[in-house]
Amino acid sequence: RPEIAFAGRSNVGKSTLLGTLLGDVQLCRRSKRPGCTTTINFFEPGGPAPSYLVDLPGFGFAERPDDQKENWSRAMFDYLAARDRSVLRHAVLLVDARRGLSANAKDLEALQGFSALKVSHHVVLTKTDLVRPPDLANALWDTFHHLAKFRKRSTCLPIVHLVSAKQGHGIQDLRDYIGSFIAEAADLRR
Ligand code: GDP
Repeated sequence: RPEIAFAGRSNVGKSTLLGTLLGDVQLCRRSKRPGCTTTINFFEPGGPAPSYLVDLPGFGFAERPDDQKENWSRAMFDYLAARDRSVLRHAVLLVDARRGLSANAKDLEALQGFSALKVSHHVVLTKTDLVRPPDLANALWDTFHHLAKFRKRSTCLPIVHLVSAKQGHGIQDLRDYIGSFIAEAADLRR
């Protein structure tokens, strides 16, 4: 079964987005307490081709002790390194649109990890409903500026989705995009 992995800092809105993509918010644990997602969860989105959406542990939340932060990052990288690329088709890095990509070294580290491990990936800016259009434009500019550093790595796709799980904006585009990786995996298997 092909897998699409979702990574991001704790509180970026990963559980909410996964619940929206899956169409069943009950499937995902959600909590106001940052850092509650400690294990790797696999969710089945349904659809024509079977697949898993993989909820990677949140990383880099400052209130957690350093060693635990380290473990969470390691759990994520262990999964990314171990998974056959015929199974792990793509990874999505979620970044809070209010902060932008450059605000956090951990996000850049995750991008470096995806590139180094040759995992196809792209960036999604979340919670866009909380950002005024001029600030959103700045966040986009900032994101593409940083992605340009990875342009020689073919696994870093120069695509940024803007989503608000709360308002449903950008969800269908993202669902279609993810669906294209799942369909591609199904084609390869034929
Ligand atoms: P996670 O730690 O990354 O899984 O983050 P959660 O999905 O638990 O969300 C963290 C907080 O952000 C919660 O209070 C959510 O209600 C809120 N949130 C998530 N997505 C959105 C969004 O699109 N818009 C707004 N305004 N809030 C959101």
